[in-house]
Amino acid sequence: MKIIIIGAGIGGLAAAVSLHEAGLHDVTVYERSAAIRGLGVGINLLPHAMRELTELGVADTIAVEGVTPSTLRYFTRRGQEIWGEPRGLDAGYRWPQLSVHRGRLQLALRDLAEARLATPIRLGHRLIETVSNADGTETARFATDDGEVAETADVIIAADGIHSALRAQRYPAEGAPPWGGLTLWRGITRIPAFLDGRTMIMAGDGEQKFVAYPLSDVDAAGDMLVNFIAERRVGGSGDADWNRAVDPAPIAELFRGWSFDWLDVPAAIARAEEILEYPMVDRDPLPRWTFGRTTLLGDAAHAMYPNGSNGGSQAILDARTLAFQLATAEGSPAGIEAALARYEEARRPAMTALLAGTRATGPERVMLLAFERAPEGFADIDQVIPLAERQQIATDYKVAAGFLPELLNERASLTPTSTPGPAPVLDRITEASSGARS
Ligand SMILES: Cc1cc2nc3c(=O)[nH]c(=O)nc-3n(C[C@H](O)[C@H](O)[C@H](O)COP(=O)(O)OP(=O)(O)OC[C@H]3O[C@@H](n4cnc5c(N)ncnc54)[C@H](O)[C@@H]3O)c2cc1C
Repeated sequence: MKIIIIGAGIGGLAAAVSLHEAGLHDVTVYERSAAIRGLGVGINLLPHAMRELTELGVADTIAVEGVTPSTLRYFTRRGQEIWGEPRGLDAGYRWPQLSVHRGRLQLALRDLAEARLATPIRLGHRLIETVSNADGTETARFATDDGEVAETADVIIAADGIHSALRAQRYPAEGAPPWGGLTLWRGITRIPAFLDGRTMIMAGDGEQKFVAYPLSDVDAAGDMLVNFIAERRVGGSGDADWNRAVDPAPIAELFRGWSFDWLDVPAAIARAEEILEYPMVDRDPLPRWTFGRTTLLGDAAHAMYPNGSNGGSQAILDARTLAFQLATAEGSPAGIEAALARYEEARRPAMTALLAGTRATGPERVMLLAFERAPEGFADIDQVIPLAERQQIATDYKVAAGFLPELLNERASLTPTSTPGPAPVLDRITEASSGARS
């Protein structure tokens, strides 16, 4: 089966490696950029994605690039704690959560794809459109510096991100991604370690918020590299495709007064070397991803708000699900089409529900409720949001996103015809975690 993947982002590269591991070796990735430069700031890989990377045999490579958070804690903009929960191995998962630089993750996946695939990644190839052929195959037309080229395959997987060309071809009236009215400023800063040095925090409410998590161990000076997302509701249209560097000083000023005894938010923002500005955009759910033998994957299919730290993780789950379905399909045209239908059935309704959940702020709903019910702060959070309500919000999101520990730990593997042994990355990370705590 000949397979073309459009886009060498996290989803496309994860799909390439997954297909290869599942025994489908005729796979070529086409990327519009002339080089894969590993841009971006930090992202979190949740345990369901780390399970897939572990079973692919790539988690060890990626784990050395990141930090495994022990805890996630939510605070008000005054620094009062609303909710806290253990994460990853500390929460009983068989796989850790990993905070990692997006670019490092992408480069690690690129290196694996380069090492394993027979064909090198075709850089400088921008998908223009796909065309279905009478025999059921699909042809992709690309623009390159040397003019147009066309390539035909049995399956085309579009993992070309939130501005997907194939999605635009299928849904020409869709237009730009809708904006939620919030602006995000993302950066990496080196600051004194806070809390246990492995805690991810979110502080604020629906109008303004600060998220931070470590991307490195604590150094000899007691500092660590921290990824942050500062966000605020602002005026404007949000229709621009922002991704521009901005001066930290005015952003730090927006957070004046957000100095807690364990974290100085404005100082953290002011120390960032670079801050990138984005609109908080996502995509509406689609009624259909698969047309003929083409389908959508990752942000091309279901770009979502970062609430819940799930976009990259869900792209990896798409990749593994699709590889499983194609690898276990009959090689006939009908078999391939049935496999694509099973992929869509397994993923699209779940992503439609998760998109709705993230638009309703996902697990961050506790922050909105605390602000709505006690805008001036509280003496006892239990009187504002009872424990059972906070627990339910956290559980509902894990169910929607597919990482409730008991279900994830027990569910069948997406590796065709194999029963995975103990996760190879587990012991090393457990050791590292206990070392960090002692
Ligand atoms: C503020 C913020 C925080 C986030 N935090 C997290 C987090 O903590 N955890 C998490 O899991 N996710 C997070 N995400 C989401 C995550 O970054 C994305 O969901 C993920 O990168 C999607 O991967 P993808 O491969 O689908 O798309 P992308 O990574 O966007 O890759 C698409 C690729 O396709 C290429 N391409 C585009 N058009 C074409 C074309 N026409 N032809 C050929 N190639 C093309 C692009 O150059 C790119 O390489 C966050 C997002 C934001 C905005």
